[in-house]
Amino acid sequence: MDLSKNILDYSKQLGLEVAGIIDAKPLYELRTHLENRIQGGLASPFENKSIEKRINPHQSLAGCQSIICFALSHLAASKSPPVNNEPYGKIAEFARGKDYHSVLQEKASQLINYIEKLYPSPFNFFISVDTSPLVERAFLHKAGGELGENTTFLSPFSGSRVSLGMILTDIPLSHHKITPPSPLCLKCGLCRESCPTGALFAPFQIDARRCLSLITQSKGIIPRVFRKSLGVRLYGCDTCQNVCPFNRKIDKYLLKNLPPPILPDELPLITCSNMSKENFKKIFGRTAINWRGRQILRRNAIVAMGNSKNINVIKPLNNLLQNDPSPIIRLHSAWSLGQYGEIEARQALESCFPRENNVEVRQEIITSLNEIENKE
Ligand code: SF4
Ligand code: SF4
Repeated sequence: MDLSKNILDYSKQLGLEVAGIIDAKPLYELRTHLENRIQGGLASPFENKSIEKRINPHQSLAGCQSIICFALSHLAASKSPPVNNEPYGKIAEFARGKDYHSVLQEKASQLINYIEKLYPSPFNFFISVDTSPLVERAFLHKAGGELGENTTFLSPFSGSRVSLGMILTDIPLSHHKITPPSPLCLKCGLCRESCPTGALFAPFQIDARRCLSLITQSKGIIPRVFRKSLGVRLYGCDTCQNVCPFNRKIDKYLLKNLPPPILPDELPLITCSNMSKENFKKIFGRTAINWRGRQILRRNAIVAMGNSKNINVIKPLNNLLQNDPSPIIRLHSAWSLGQYGEIEARQALESCFPRENNVEVRQEIITSLNEIENKE
């Protein structure tokens, strides 16, 4: 019995689009590249600071001998938003369906149960579904998969709209490479040209600090320089994937059989900016947005309100600036008010200033008032 072959066959039955099995040698060839990224300030805040943990599977599972690498589409069918007299913000593809962490975890557990039935001895394993320091994309690449110029992993079936996972095990499995039918990335550079912030500064290179998708998922204050570029992105950014000719070709046949989404493509911004804990859990609890929490979604909605150029947002922004206990929420509300030249926006900023005691929020109010003055 070829256990590896059985595992790959069962992976297909589970709906895993791409699967390969590789040895557990550390990816030492990546060390310099990752060091340069950290030194150059290009790494994302989500990346583990220990390069050894990122490239060496033995740091996650002592005695690791084999790695089963897999990818699963996170595309979901399109769903129109509820009709509402508010501006709307966009939800990226990966965040609209069931949380990909739990979907992949479930598939990986089923795969483990299957292996337990076939393998005669007890074995150890470690599951990584975007939940460990390991550079999953690089291990999938080693398994034979392909990367696009925008640094995403490309599946021949769903293009870059896939989530990645790995099972590390101390079973000595035979190796099976993923064999894409032909080169998938056309190296056309459209992804890089479309990026609103220049985050894709060279082929296969990304400055994670400039990536709007990561910015919408990071906590804290969004740097001023990126707020306008965010437009009405509420969570994630699909721009470089939407323009990709390979994705566009694939969508045509995939879109017919997609699972239903949890979230619509767009959500009303004012509602999101005021969302209660209970409503957040109800609406986002089963999605990947739940992972980052309510305040991040509210903050993103507020920035999108500033970019929506819809004067109906001025009153709710004023309420947030006056009353919200979170300085992060007040600060971004002040910025968004500053995007409007209307007298109500200026009055809201002026009336809040004397009572505001947070230094950063006070500074944001001053900068926003100056911006309005320059518009007049
Ligand atoms: S996700 Fe958006 S911001 Fe990030 S690299 Fe792609 S286009 Fe640029
Ligand atoms: S847009 Fe072009 S260069 Fe970028 S990933 Fe797609 S095919 Fe490759």
